[in-house]
Amino acid sequence: MFLTDNTRLKALHFAILLLSLMMVQDLVAQGDYFISPVDHKLVLAGSFGELRGNHFHSGIDIKSSNGSSGDTIRAAASGKVSRIKIEYGGYGRALYIDHPNGLTTVYAHVKKFNAKIEAYLLSQQRNAQSYRLDISLDTMIIAVKQGEFIALMGNEGRSYGPHLHFEIRNTISEKPINPFLHNIKPRDSKAPVISHLYINSLDPDGQILERAAISKRQDSISIGAWRVGLAFNGHDSMDGASNKNGIHSIKVFVDDKLAYQAALDSFSFDESSQIKGITDYQFKKDKNITLYQCYVLPNVDISIIRNHKRNKGIIPLYKDKYQKVTLVLEDYEKNTTSRNIWIKRSENMKEISSKPYNILLHYDQENLISTPSFQLKIPQKALIKKERIQYTFNQDPINLEQNNLEIGKNNIPLLKYASLTMSIPLSFREIDKIILVNSDKGVSYGGEIEDHVLSCRIDEFGSYHLALDTIAPTILTLKKNTWRKNELIKLKLSDNYPTKGIARSIDYDCYINDIWVPGAYKSMTQILKIDLGQLKLKKSNQLRIVATDDRDNTTERIISF
Ligand SMILES: [Zn+2]
Repeated sequence: MFLTDNTRLKALHFAILLLSLMMVQDLVAQGDYFISPVDHKLVLAGSFGELRGNHFHSGIDIKSSNGSSGDTIRAAASGKVSRIKIEYGGYGRALYIDHPNGLTTVYAHVKKFNAKIEAYLLSQQRNAQSYRLDISLDTMIIAVKQGEFIALMGNEGRSYGPHLHFEIRNTISEKPINPFLHNIKPRDSKAPVISHLYINSLDPDGQILERAAISKRQDSISIGAWRVGLAFNGHDSMDGASNKNGIHSIKVFVDDKLAYQAALDSFSFDESSQIKGITDYQFKKDKNITLYQCYVLPNVDISIIRNHKRNKGIIPLYKDKYQKVTLVLEDYEKNTTSRNIWIKRSENMKEISSKPYNILLHYDQENLISTPSFQLKIPQKALIKKERIQYTFNQDPINLEQNNLEIGKNNIPLLKYASLTMSIPLSFREIDKIILVNSDKGVSYGGEIEDHVLSCRIDEFGSYHLALDTIAPTILTLKKNTWRKNELIKLKLSDNYPTKGIARSIDYDCYINDIWVPGAYKSMTQILKIDLGQLKLKKSNQLRIVATDDRDNTTERIISF
């Protein structure tokens, strides 16, 4: 087709208009396009955007009707199944449905899909001989109607009790959107609650010099610092449950002028690690309390913070002038909690004691620490601000586990993986069984070995050492006498090291009477289940399991039942 410049320009304008309309539509309430995915009353154990340690919660957690698995899950709107993802952790068993309006709904932790989906999944698992799968259904279409039964509620993957994790995403950008914007929400008549409030004294880099706790009745404070920022722990509860859910909107005013604003309507999965920069990472490690910091640190760049270039939330203090600082928290129904605190600078400025360090790391460029025995490459934007850290390396040619690297402290956030290489002492023969272990957690980060150098990637500062892994996984039978009656085999499958980074998690194959069958594994509980319901069993049957770890240590067990 031939277009003149003018029509081309018009077409371009139209395309831009269409695109911006499409972007706006995500965030504008869409009335009743979706129905609730459950038949029972909507009661939530988790809300959208909630701060969950290392990520923002990307959906809502719908409680089961009676505390156990098996509630009916229905398609929230008509569409086609676009993805089935099965994993040991994470969403466990999850179904994705694309809808004609450009949005996708996600149903996670389910126990079982409907017969049609379950049959399709089983054929795919048999083909791949793997329980874990991530299937995109581009050509093979499983159409579903709004309200159609699609699955049973479960507790698979990283889940602490039966519930449905329900998400709405933009199909193309995959950005999750608050389901409340689409009217999938419970009643909420309770305002957010502030549990802890702190005024943090900050240095020019955003380092916390001191945290001053503000008590419930306190309305003023004088602080020996040039600048401060607010930090709080709080929650919102919805009707019908006492669960402490997330807060929708956070605002800070200084003398009634907006200084900081965040709202949890939508975000991108790429922004997940930013949670380590907008919450107090050190406080979480030390006290296991999440403090939301209402100020913007140098490398914070996240869409939930409105106008973050201008409204940084960092408050300069004056000696003789009290400023009124107001924290305003709001939920989706506009139930509001607000708290005033008058702050001024005190006469006695605190002395700043500097801790020892031997390297200064930058957030706006790549950092390379290179020595003959180890090398650490921290990519650009992996740190939230400038960090001063201390490192030591110990080499030992005889005792492998004494080859130890201490790099910073594990309370300094690392937003991206850093590449680490460590040299292995020449005397080690079983070299292919050597791994890198995080000493604080006893977790294996695995490693690729070449020319007596182990390379891997780490997502935390702290202490690491080399170790040998020659121990194969263990397989234990659980309640074997009930297997036939319940049509369910239960086993405990575990290994000596949990894994992270590039280390492979445990892998296994299950055969019943020499036919491969999918065994469902949940890494949180280390329980492996095999459904006998669909199988033709004999009077006496044989189960064979082969399990392998990251270093190819293998266990085989044959069990008759
Ligand atoms: Zn969830």
